[in-house]
Amino acid sequence: MSTLPHPALAAADPELAALVGAEERLQAETLRLIASENYVSRAVLEAAGTVLQNKYSEGYPGRRYYEGQQNIDQVERLAVARAKDLFGVEHANVQPYSGSPANLAVYLAFAEPGDTVMGMSLPMGGHLTHGWGVSATGTWFRGVRYGVRRDTGLVDFDEVRELALKERPKIIFCGGTAVPRTIDFAAFAEIAREAGAILVADVAHIAGLIAGGAHPSPVPHADVISTTTHKTLRGPRGAMLMSRETHAKALDKAVFPGLQGGPHNQTTAAIAVALHEAAQPSFRSYAHAVVANARALAEALLERGFDLVSGGTDNHLILMDLTPKEVPGKIAAKGLDRAGVVVNYNTVPYDARKPFDPSGIRIGTPALTSRGLGVEHMPAVADWIDRGVRAAGAGDEDALAAIRREVAELMAAYPAPGLPG
Ligand SMILES: *Cc1c(COP(=O)(O)O)cnc(C)c1O
Repeated sequence: MSTLPHPALAAADPELAALVGAEERLQAETLRLIASENYVSRAVLEAAGTVLQNKYSEGYPGRRYYEGQQNIDQVERLAVARAKDLFGVEHANVQPYSGSPANLAVYLAFAEPGDTVMGMSLPMGGHLTHGWGVSATGTWFRGVRYGVRRDTGLVDFDEVRELALKERPKIIFCGGTAVPRTIDFAAFAEIAREAGAILVADVAHIAGLIAGGAHPSPVPHADVISTTTHKTLRGPRGAMLMSRETHAKALDKAVFPGLQGGPHNQTTAAIAVALHEAAQPSFRSYAHAVVANARALAEALLERGFDLVSGGTDNHLILMDLTPKEVPGKIAAKGLDRAGVVVNYNTVPYDARKPFDPSGIRIGTPALTSRGLGVEHMPAVADWIDRGVRAAGAGDEDALAAIRREVAELMAAYPAPGLPG
């Protein structure tokens, strides 16, 4: 396996270049099942590595605090126009540094410190920035939380409505980081309207599925759409906020000057490239293949006796409760990592174990689908997980090493975008 040519880097800093090369090999040889990760294209990588890096551009196109923006303004306008086209929104801000700062900007735009905000509880699948205690959003605001039902693993909208009408939050977040099912944006919107709250659809995980028509769009329902650009959307690490024109000013002002300084123009450029890629017919196929792969993988795991939260998946993500397998999530995740199957340990709803040592693992199909793996490969993937979890529980390092060799062999036949073949 060769590495990408980074001649200047290798000459100037061989130590760092070696680490980049090692990471290229690791990403090439392993089966990456982290639900929030992906492989960006070479075009996205190249855009993110340009001299746009050298520019300061505080402000917005046509309204900057620095001169010399002849090209940068066009780059940002292109990214904004493509985001508006792709998602069908009136307004897009492509400057947030990442998903968490994007969400913080929403608080700054619509709430005052101490106000009540509502989101899905973190251990039920929500995100830290939806008002969870250890996040600034949970210490500067009063977070109230909904969850999923124990029997179905699904959001209980009667519970959400009751809580919203009792607590009257300023902002309601829907979406999360470990939600394997379709998000009912219309149901959340109706509750937000009744409660007089701003509805934020945080689609960080599913933005690519929405763009590709493989998940319903929040656009007719949500006041604000927050998303990262680096998960299923397959762009650089970054984020966007989208809305109708009515909220444009408040959001823009919150991002800059409210929270941030100069935008990361090289990232804006790479977002523009990713949005262009996501507008192609091939990306629609990709988004649908991600979901088809997740469904096939869920089926194969159920056949092998795995307990899946909510019984399966509608999207790219599967949350597994390993309690019946009698292997804790962390031991399973670390063992699978040694087997070249990269996952993360995760709490499951009503987890009896601690968040740092929970009962579950979370997996997803965005990255393996980017390599061209299809439903025909999912039984093999389920087998590796099954054997890997058992070997991890038994401390059988030989079995884990055998899986690693099998994984590397399949991965060699499906080179990853952006990496050497
Ligand atoms: C990933 C994620 C974020 C945060 O993104 P970062 O870029 O890691 O800050 C926010 N919300 C949800 C639902 C996410 O999944």
